[in-house]
Amino acid sequence: MTYLMQALQARAGEFISLRRDIHRHPELAFEEHRTAALVAGKLEDWGYAVERSVGGTGVVGTLRRGQGTRRLGIRADMDALPIDEASGTAWSSVNRGVMHACGHDGHTAMLLAAARHLAAEGRFDGTLHLIFQPAEEGGGGALRMMDDGLFERFPCDAVYAMHNMPGIEQGRIVLREGAAMASSDYATVTLHGIGGHGAMPHRAADPIVAAAGIVMALQSIVARNIDPLQAAVVTVGALHAGKANNVIPASATLELSVRALDREVRQTLERRIRALVAAQAESYGVSAHIEWRPGYAVLVNTPAETAFAREVATELVGADRVTLQGPPLTGSEDFAFMLERVPGSYLLIGNGAGDGVCMVHNPGYDFNDHNIAVGSALWVLLAERFLVPAGETRS
Ligand SMILES: [Zn+2]
Ligand SMILES: [Zn+2]
Repeated sequence: MTYLMQALQARAGEFISLRRDIHRHPELAFEEHRTAALVAGKLEDWGYAVERSVGGTGVVGTLRRGQGTRRLGIRADMDALPIDEASGTAWSSVNRGVMHACGHDGHTAMLLAAARHLAAEGRFDGTLHLIFQPAEEGGGGALRMMDDGLFERFPCDAVYAMHNMPGIEQGRIVLREGAAMASSDYATVTLHGIGGHGAMPHRAADPIVAAAGIVMALQSIVARNIDPLQAAVVTVGALHAGKANNVIPASATLELSVRALDREVRQTLERRIRALVAAQAESYGVSAHIEWRPGYAVLVNTPAETAFAREVATELVGADRVTLQGPPLTGSEDFAFMLERVPGSYLLIGNGAGDGVCMVHNPGYDFNDHNIAVGSALWVLLAERFLVPAGETRS
């Protein structure tokens, strides 16, 4: 075990307690007041310059050392989910209907443990920005912080984040260069026809038949417009129309979920959905309105920054506990927006594998506290290697 790992292991108890305290008091998106205050207070105690209320409840802690001009950003998310906890742990949520079911309590604790160590004995030269983000779970907290001038006020040459992942052995670090998580967009299609008697369809313009035609036509996009080696999803998850068997309704609505692992594929999906819906509607004599709601972007890890993180992870835990190129995930993550602005990489850390593993967003889930030492050691080593003091060479 390296000296660094030993040092963080020795202090892990304090941060496991902190993690459990945050777990016991989960807060939903943009309501992370207690968590943000706790984070800001700790950072200030350790000598960080702290900025509160960045993009709502976000917190940024900055530590400068030496004359180095390089600037590193590390991001943790702080929000919980609207889930009734059933983990059975002694540190279960006291906020009914709210739960840290995605391990953001652990991400926050790992970054705080790293923050304390870096302030106390970190060997680095340059600027460290620790970004504690609100509202990752669908609220787009990353965008809110960026709209609030995150990267203008705290410029970064690279930015990193890490998420725990059940089903992967505890402490294994998984990296991936390129597209790693999917974009997710949503569309509501409203068809307006002419209602009428079910016995006289020629006197009506039936939106149900048009909707059925559209559902089938949409299937051809993934089959015929997307490169078979690319991934794409077009799902019609809801179709609402009509109330009675002898009445042709005047309107119908469809709800679509659209995902891609490539920025161009994402654009193609939107373009083809719009074109098909318009042409199909016209062919059935109804009008169509599409409300397109862009969600999270494709998360793309840049090559150089991912390679750098691989070196750091391998140095820390050894090559046999690092997956160099993991599979992409169809889930979405708003760190994607930060990576559209600043090069960087999104890492996974195994939360444990085998029987009884509980997936994130499950009421029985809990963050694996063994990861506090590993995850925080990884952040410390990454910062020290990225902001390497003058006279020492970057390994
Ligand atoms: Zn989640
Ligand atoms: Zn999460």
